Amino acid sequence: MRPDIVRAAVIRRDHIHETARLVCIARGRADILPPGGVEMERKSFDVCVVGAGPAGATAACRLAERGIDALLVDRARFPRDKVCGDGVGPRAVRVLEKLGLYPSEGFPGKYGLEGVRIGSPNHGVLEVAVGEGDPEAKAGYVIPRERFDGWLLEQAVKKGARLWDGVEVRQVEKRKGGLQISGSMDGRPLSVTARFAIGAWGAQAGKVAGPYPARVGGGRFAVVAMRAYFTGLQGIGPYLEIHFDPGLVPGYGWVFPTGPESANIGYGMRQDFLRKKGIPLRRLFEGFLDTNPSVRRYLEKGKRVSPLRGAMIPFRKARLPVARGRLLLTGDAAGFADPLSGEGIGTAMQSGWMAADCVANALRHGIPARWASVAYASSCHKEIVWNLGLASLVQAILIRPPFGSTDRILDAIVEKARGNPRMARALARLIIGDLSRTAFLDARNWGKLRRAWRQP
Ligand SMILES: Cc1cc2nc3c(=O)[nH]c(=O)nc-3n(C[C@H](O)[C@H](O)[C@H](O)COP(=O)(O)OP(=O)(O)OC[C@H]3O[C@@H](n4cnc5c(N)ncnc54)[C@H](O)[C@@H]3O)c2cc1C
Repeated sequence: MRPDIVRAAVIRRDHIHETARLVCIARGRADILPPGGVEMERKSFDVCVVGAGPAGATAACRLAERGIDALLVDRARFPRDKVCGDGVGPRAVRVLEKLGLYPSEGFPGKYGLEGVRIGSPNHGVLEVAVGEGDPEAKAGYVIPRERFDGWLLEQAVKKGARLWDGVEVRQVEKRKGGLQISGSMDGRPLSVTARFAIGAWGAQAGKVAGPYPARVGGGRFAVVAMRAYFTGLQGIGPYLEIHFDPGLVPGYGWVFPTGPESANIGYGMRQDFLRKKGIPLRRLFEGFLDTNPSVRRYLEKGKRVSPLRGAMIPFRKARLPVARGRLLLTGDAAGFADPLSGEGIGTAMQSGWMAADCVANALRHGIPARWASVAYASSCHKEIVWNLGLASLVQAILIRPPFGSTDRILDAIVEKARGNPRMARALARLIIGDLSRTAFLDARNWGKLRRAWRQP
């Protein structure tokens, strides 16, 4: 090629780099720029990760650690908010530990939780400390997602991940030996090819067309939830609080403290129940603030400091594939949130890690793509899907119990656990997602429960 054409191309490339760099710096986002600027003219990568929430950022971290040439795209500009309860539980912390990011200086969770408070429909309250005698054991953290997701993404970029934010993906299509990922950036079409793609686009599954079933969630496979931030709260402690209201289970309200006097307070309800009851979610949320005795006490001098915002938590439909050829779905895109607790950050990160490892193994060792997706699907079934299925089953039994009523069963469980520390601890670990749902399959656990039940 003629040297003057090459020089012109290099100048043009440098010009694009420099313009992009200046725009990022002007937006105060120089910290998330990869070293050397963005290489927007590159069109081919080994892996494209779509979505930079906990699932995508974890996958990008792991791919960078393993030296894989990957591109991470997100339609949002970071830091961005995400409607959530902000509970970062032990499962998420374990993935951070594996990534060498916890404990660490910059970890944004300064206010560790020491336990769980559960309020029953008759307003009995059970308070359980988790990890008694072990000052390091935490029931998790509550970290506003704007901060947590921004921090995690920053760590991915520090490890070497290449990020293009502001890129909205609309389609993932099969191409010979790979995938084409198409969308737009600032209204202009953009398309890249990759040998593998990791779908980490959250609850927006229906909006990305591709070689997989269109949607997760909806009806009984979804919870709709609302939350707002409050300050000036009195009497709250470092406890993850969950309260059940009479006649409204499986819905529940939460108070997740972000500090000694501040909290994320919200209410969530399964979508089909909400439709059946015909009550707007906002009314349930306001009712929770007005009538729940614990919450009313906290709020005596408290005030709301953010708008009330809502979103959906999608759940898995049985037999929904988690991988299609070279596309591996993770986090909410695969419906990996727990139907019992609504917790999805931990499983999103866990699936992001597993997807990245399967893809990295395939690329490093020349394993056929089909085997990589089979390996991913089998890890997901073992580590996540099986648990979620059991959680759905337990929820179904709790909603339509073979005897008594849901409210009375929950009242009795809370009452019994107040007099039985082992049962209380198991309940707390179940809520923070630290106890595998397979515990329900262990006959010894049912025996222990029966003995606890019989105690006066
Ligand atoms: C009200 C509420 C409360 C919750 N509380 C908790 C809690 O306390 N603890 C907990 O563990 N879980 C909670 N969850 C669940 C949790 O928020 C999700 O399970 C978790 O965010 C899933 O992570 P993810 O990375 O899969 O998706 P997300 O966090 O949703 O990230 C997806 C990313 O993909 C990007 N994206 C989407 N579409 C596209 C596209 N087409 N192109 C490019 N980028 C795209 C988005 O901008 C986003 O950054 C709650 C959910 C809700 C709604």
